[in-house]
Amino acid sequence: MFKKILVANRGEIAMRIIRACRELDIATAAIYSEADSTGIYVKKADEAYLVGPGPVRGFLDGQQIVELAKRIGADAIHPGYGFLSENAEFAHLCQANDITFIGPSPQAIHLMGNKVKAKELAKRVQVPTVPGTEGGVSNLEGAVAFSRSIGYPVMVKATAGGGGRGLRVVRSEDDLRAGMETSSREALAAFGDGSLFIEKYVERPHHIEFQILGDRHGTVIHLGERDCSIQRRLQKLIEIAPSLILTPQLRAEMGEAANKIAKAVDYDNAGTVEFLLDQDRRYYFIEMNPRIQVEHTVTEQITAVDIVRSQISIAAGEPLEIRQEDVTLQGHAIQCRINAEDPRNNFRPCTGTVSAYLSPGGIGVRIDGAVYKDYTVPPYYDALLAKLTVRGRTWDETVSRMRRSLEEYVLRGIKTTIPFLKKIMEEPDFRAGAFDTSYLERHPEVFDYDESLEPEDLVVAISAAVAAYEGL
Ligand code: ADP
Ligand code: ADP
Ligand code: MG
Repeated sequence: MFKKILVANRGEIAMRIIRACRELDIATAAIYSEADSTGIYVKKADEAYLVGPGPVRGFLDGQQIVELAKRIGADAIHPGYGFLSENAEFAHLCQANDITFIGPSPQAIHLMGNKVKAKELAKRVQVPTVPGTEGGVSNLEGAVAFSRSIGYPVMVKATAGGGGRGLRVVRSEDDLRAGMETSSREALAAFGDGSLFIEKYVERPHHIEFQILGDRHGTVIHLGERDCSIQRRLQKLIEIAPSLILTPQLRAEMGEAANKIAKAVDYDNAGTVEFLLDQDRRYYFIEMNPRIQVEHTVTEQITAVDIVRSQISIAAGEPLEIRQEDVTLQGHAIQCRINAEDPRNNFRPCTGTVSAYLSPGGIGVRIDGAVYKDYTVPPYYDALLAKLTVRGRTWDETVSRMRRSLEEYVLRGIKTTIPFLKKIMEEPDFRAGAFDTSYLERHPEVFDYDESLEPEDLVVAISAAVAAYEGL
């Protein structure tokens, strides 16, 4: 097993990795920027090193990180999500320096980083994909001809895209003609690759993804699915497990398809195979994310498998301890992303200092956070402050528990998604499990939430109680 892991990330996912390391008795080293020096993960790691320059470059500078790992005697690097997690060159650089990259092989990352190649691979192993252009589109007339043949609306996608960026829904030929060049330019700026492809737009699908674990001995299993259909701007906001609409038979079939795709790239470590499920319950592969995902917590809560711990043991060469038939899904779980964002202002990110903080607790409640009283949210990173995950025996109980937990959550000083999420937990279609990716478009009333806060004296009383408790 590893002696010391360098955590090449920040925020809640750095905390998540540090917690797994503590349970495994592995020392941890954090990296941070000046802007992020008050991050809680910096304090919780055994060692912490300033990287730079600026707030972001240090997290993206693979060379600097590998040199640091060598200097401090770290034998493995966990990249988390975002930053260097899907950078095949970085995984390769780690390998070349005898440091274990906690993730799949550079080859698997490289292939899955290209959505067109990933879809070709899926087709080769007979997994259905969304109808789209064969390969990328190299010119506007090709794009126009394809879209005409398949019919509007279509989805224009960046081949190298990710994180909900580089996607555009196009409803007419005029839009397509007007937008192709911008899309390509944006993709080039964001991903260093301007190539695009086009897919049929699937109306009102569910986003269903399977959590994969593969070891270095050729075993691949899945831990069931998550439904991540509640999205804003094609980015996930609420994730649940299991899906409320998959039959056991469809789960087994899609799970088998996900395993087949992973096996076809000799996939090891944790990964996610994403599908769209249309209104006739037909499924289509869209992409595979070769890394830990934000929403892995819901799978952990219903399977009792620690996915980050599994990532570490797989990378250390250990065989998987569980077989496919050992995986059982118990109850339901919901994760809400507590973001520093203003939902009513097109989810604009907010910064500021947390003036009061008290997280919810009680039965079935889990917090993966990076926030505390007096923490100042820096403007340079993603808006995720904490993930609130609850589990329950039934869907109904789980939704009620989430609503209760959001009610308990005190996070003052900045705008967050808490009151908005609470409103969704009260909305009848959500409560009934009747939602797909068009949910927010169809429910403008959830933006009409009550932002009035607890009376100031209550916040003062809570802060005093917390201070007294911490002093015990
Ligand atoms: P990213 O790499 O940014 O995660 P994805 O290809 O996974 O991009 O798509 C993100 C989201 O966009 C999906 O979860 C889904 O809501 C929507 N989407 C993607 N492709 C289609 C499609 N062909 N039709 C309808 N919606 C789509
Ligand atoms: P998904 O890509 O399926 O939405 P997550 O919600 O787990 O997965 O995304 C994790 C984070 O990683 C997001 O906050 C996003 O900002 C970041 N991210 C994912 N893919 C990329 C990418 N290709 N480039 C930059 N950032 C990314
Ligand atoms: Mg995706």
